[in-house]
Amino acid sequence: MSIQEPAGSCTLPVVETFHSLQGEGMHAGRSALFIRLGGCQVGCSWCDTKHSWPQEVHPQRTLKDLAAEAEAAAAEGAAFVVITGGEPLEHNLDALCTALRPVGLPLHLETSGVNALSGTFEWITLSPKPHRPPTAQALSACQELKLVVHQASDLAFAEAQADQASAQRAPDQPPPVLLLQPGWQSAAGQQLAIDYVRSHPEWRLSLQTHKWLGVR
Ligand code: SF4
Repeated sequence: MSIQEPAGSCTLPVVETFHSLQGEGMHAGRSALFIRLGGCQVGCSWCDTKHSWPQEVHPQRTLKDLAAEAEAAAAEGAAFVVITGGEPLEHNLDALCTALRPVGLPLHLETSGVNALSGTFEWITLSPKPHRPPTAQALSACQELKLVVHQASDLAFAEAQADQASAQRAPDQPPPVLLLQPGWQSAAGQQLAIDYVRSHPEWRLSLQTHKWLGVR
């Protein structure tokens, strides 16, 4: 069931906004404004943002208000805006991206890729989940493919997703950056990811540095 708003919707449910450093992935360590949207039906058992799953409990904020916050973050030094969740693509993001464009910051998206893409982004981080694989559209559009590792089967899934992402691309389209990220506090996942990256140089290790530092 699609729960996306009409493209012209001018409010979205927002769990939180905060200006911090990107904690993970290729842009880790860079100043960013995060806009965490409410709503996710993907249902990962290890999800660390389960409070974001229901849409209704989070306040509706206007796109104008979010753009003003991005403007303020840009003035404070934010290098880009991250649209995250929840699963942000449970909403049509066209209007949000249009509202944020005048701020002039690159727009990044973090998604599981199970819904149709909307909005326009400079950087898409796709984090496929084995129990809800992403669409071909998401695999072809992402700049970064980030797989969470808890068990050995996650590595096989990661390789299959990397193969599919390559297969979906035009010959002149660069491949996505390939990242393995150990599940938080998963000793097995950590060891598996480290060992795999050691012997597979096309993959990089991604750590949730914000959690290690105890910051947002
Ligand atoms: S897709 Fe993301 S927000 Fe949704 S359940 Fe999975 S980890 Fe949590």
